[in-house]
Amino acid sequence: MAAYKSDIEIAQEARMLPISEVAAKAGLSEDMIEPYGYTKAKVDIHSLADRPRKGRLVLVTAINPTPAGEGKTTTSIGLADAMNRLGHQTMLALREPSLGPVFGIKGGAAGGGYAQVVPMEDINLHFTGDFHAIGAANNLCAAMLDNHIKQGNALGIDPRRIVWKRCVDMNDRQLRNVVDGLGGIADGMPRQDGFDITVASEVMAVFCLATDLMDLKARLARMVIAYTYDRKPVTVADIHAEGAMTALLKDAIKPNLVQTLEGNPAFVHGGPFANIAHGCNSVEATTTALKLADYVVTEAGFGADLGAEKFLDIKCRYAGLKPSAVVLVATVRALKYNGGVAKADLGTENLEALEAGMPNLLQHVSNIRDVWGLPVVVAINAFPTDTAAELALVKRKCNELGVNVALSEVWAKGGEGGCALAEEVVRLCEQPSDFRFAYDVDDTIVDKLTAIATKVYHADGVDFTSAAAKQLKQLEEQGFGNLPICVAKTQYSFSDDQTKLGAPRGFRITVRNLKVSAGAGFIVALTGDIMTMPGLPKVPAAEKIDVTSDGRIVGLF
Ligand code: ADP
Ligand code: MG
Repeated sequence: MAAYKSDIEIAQEARMLPISEVAAKAGLSEDMIEPYGYTKAKVDIHSLADRPRKGRLVLVTAINPTPAGEGKTTTSIGLADAMNRLGHQTMLALREPSLGPVFGIKGGAAGGGYAQVVPMEDINLHFTGDFHAIGAANNLCAAMLDNHIKQGNALGIDPRRIVWKRCVDMNDRQLRNVVDGLGGIADGMPRQDGFDITVASEVMAVFCLATDLMDLKARLARMVIAYTYDRKPVTVADIHAEGAMTALLKDAIKPNLVQTLEGNPAFVHGGPFANIAHGCNSVEATTTALKLADYVVTEAGFGADLGAEKFLDIKCRYAGLKPSAVVLVATVRALKYNGGVAKADLGTENLEALEAGMPNLLQHVSNIRDVWGLPVVVAINAFPTDTAAELALVKRKCNELGVNVALSEVWAKGGEGGCALAEEVVRLCEQPSDFRFAYDVDDTIVDKLTAIATKVYHADGVDFTSAAAKQLKQLEEQGFGNLPICVAKTQYSFSDDQTKLGAPRGFRITVRNLKVSAGAGFIVALTGDIMTMPGLPKVPAAEKIDVTSDGRIVGLF
């Protein structure tokens, strides 16, 4: 196989435009941006407050992936570049990468090949400091909570029922469970505590769902951080922390403007986990982009059963968004994986397995059409390892079954490789659609979960462990019964068992734990153990990252 340039080599060869020129392409004058250096800026959202949304929203999602990721971000970026090439003014709204995966296994999240956003090193590392600000706001709340207890505990907070954790944006399993407050009377109240990675914090989810600064403050105020000895919820408002937390976030909440390799404007802003949170960039970034561009391409984390479902049923519901079209990214390797091929053998041609994996793709396509009523196109994200016969087979099968399909070669060719996909997306945006949610928020928690499980996962039903059944009752009593549901589930299967690939049938979903994220405004239904503080692998990606004497970063993918 030919040698390919690494993502960072391609990114560093790019000639970036000054950010004011990129801003101008989005109709933003110099006084509407706050530059962070030469190639990044935040956008003054207040100057756009009264602007109507004019753009059409395109969601990029995927089939159930392999552990390496199937190229949603890459496809989104290439699609936006292709649409701009075709003369359609298009912006991106993407998530900010977390340092956890950057230094761990998965790597950066600024796209790949010739479909990237730049400066990729900055975007992947500290960027404009948003995640640190989110961590600081989270930890201010923790400090004020423990201080409240130390100073006499007027609220009667039960230290054993604190549900708020400290956070840091790093994969650091050592901090998962800690004992703090040790030392003596002057040093706080000793208790068992723990850290989450910043992207798993509720502040991150709130940050990404807030529609403006005051909504951010109101959501922060509602977050439940502990329970009292008589089991009443204690909120951020009870310890008067929401004002100072919002003060820490007042600049972070402004969307970050960067550019694609082809010089097109992109917002990269916010990045909540896709399991215990909803997994998409900030509402601020999406709605601001819709005010500035004719088309906005955005991505939702994980496969469509999780990512698209939460994007549509949580984010679109709260932000009043209505997507015009959906792109479902499929890869030959993920189809083979769904067809039963082991991870190590995915590089070898296997037409039978490819065909055996197709039901996974077809089920996602029919869900998007029938559950949410949206037009969809499959984007085959071509990898260098794919054979011509494999690519032809996927295309033929889609055509036979009446599924819109386009080959995407944006990783290898940039926007030029995405023109067929772009044409199809623009065509779909003109089609009538009948967007609806998978469930009504006013239904009971059980009915909402059953709707997701049966309609989207094609399960036979939902079971609750006895602990979850108890939590269900408590949440309804506390008045949280009418919130949307955020399911935390494996991303590898429609089911809650990651070994059930393809389009499984005859299974039930087991909910093990239910908890409220009252600020974000959803109930998290956990179907297994979800890690909110990941660890590093045996050989972390961090070992290969370095800096040269002239300050150039190397080894960052
Ligand atoms: P996702 O957003 O679905 O998680 P990404 O777009 O971040 O996926 O891509 C995951 C990884 O796969 C990245 O390292 C990217 O460079 C690589 N990648 C994506 N598409 C291709 C492709 N067509 N060929 C080769 N590598 C690719
Ligand atoms: Mg991605």
